[in-house]
Amino acid sequence: MTGPRAYHQVPVAEVISETDEACSLVLAVPAELAGAFSYRPGQFLTVRVPAAGGGSVARCYSLSSSPHTGDAPTITVKRITDGYASNWIADNVRPGTVLDLLPPAGTFSPQSLAGDFLLFAAGSGITPVISIIKSALATGRGRVVLIYANRDERSVIFGPELHRLAATAEERLVVVHRLDSLHGTPTAAAMAALARPYAGGEAFICGPDPYLAVVRQALSQLGVPAKGVHVERFLSLQENPFEATEPTGGTAAALEVCLDGETHTLEWPAGTRMLDVLIDQGLAAPFSCRQGVCGACACQLTAGQVEMAHNEVLEAEDVADGYILACQSLALTAQVSITY
Ligand SMILES: Cc1cc2nc3c(=O)[nH]c(=O)nc-3n(C[C@H](O)[C@H](O)[C@H](O)COP(=O)(O)OP(=O)(O)OC[C@H]3O[C@@H](n4cnc5c(N)ncnc54)[C@H](O)[C@@H]3O)c2cc1C
Repeated sequence: MTGPRAYHQVPVAEVISETDEACSLVLAVPAELAGAFSYRPGQFLTVRVPAAGGGSVARCYSLSSSPHTGDAPTITVKRITDGYASNWIADNVRPGTVLDLLPPAGTFSPQSLAGDFLLFAAGSGITPVISIIKSALATGRGRVVLIYANRDERSVIFGPELHRLAATAEERLVVVHRLDSLHGTPTAAAMAALARPYAGGEAFICGPDPYLAVVRQALSQLGVPAKGVHVERFLSLQENPFEATEPTGGTAAALEVCLDGETHTLEWPAGTRMLDVLIDQGLAAPFSCRQGVCGACACQLTAGQVEMAHNEVLEAEDVADGYILACQSLALTAQVSITY
């Protein structure tokens, strides 16, 4: 049995209506949880939402606040047509509602806030991006460029706040709005033309999959190296870390791990995720979301075979190169070797 993850109960202090479809939840994190809820710009929280027929579902929401401006941690949720949790939150969460939350996680965060940034957001993808903008303006000295795509003017989240930030940032912040209603659906050529004057610095992209693909293509046309491009996908979790699950699948194996220049051989029980084996043995294997969405636990398979229960982050070519997610891997062969 995989136990439920430890979560915290945090009251909502305020609900702010941002657009017809999006609202921000300002959290009143109790003083004793301040450490657990310290975060980096671009990270997300995982929220438990009660399910209609009993039980619950879990969803990730990025923090739209900055940890560097003294503002309370805030998440911003946009209603999705026919989506369960986003509509439940918009219809039910009020000031005083107590949310069950997993602490901040995720790797869509700059290593340093000092340099230049080229940021792309579409729709609710602005949420982690505005956290990076506010943080870079508050602590760095570089130029920050945001290219922000929306369906129409009414769907622009944080429009007035971005305007105010640009006005007070003394030309350090450039915001380029792109509206489908005026300019049509974004294409790689159009995005490359918009970004060309600003190419350079680290790039961060957040939005729906077709938008991510178009911006990646645009950046590649501009010669921006893929390793300087960071992407966040907004997907619904398939598993629920708030509830215990029975182990299924996989076989018992011997696991050879090369980590930090040392090799360890471990017993890997059937039905157990690789990352759980590493953590149980006290190895400092990297991880973050444990849901197959962030990629922080990626390592390379050098012998044997595994199956991943869920993979939202590795591309087909990564998998072909032997990359796997430790948090999602079950053994398929009696001997498995990996390296970090
Ligand atoms: C790291 C991360 C950060 C995120 N940050 C944010 C954020 O800051 N703000 C934000 O608004 N969202 C964010 N998301 C997305 C969020 O977690 C949810 O995915 C989103 O709110 C939709 O959830 P839902 O329950 O409303 O929709 P779901 O019920 O999960 O449905 C989503 C869509 O899938 C369709 N669908 C559902 N079930 C099926 C099915 N069986 N077959 C076919 N289609 C189906 C629905 O019609 C709907 O269009 C983030 C996601 C991740 C992974």
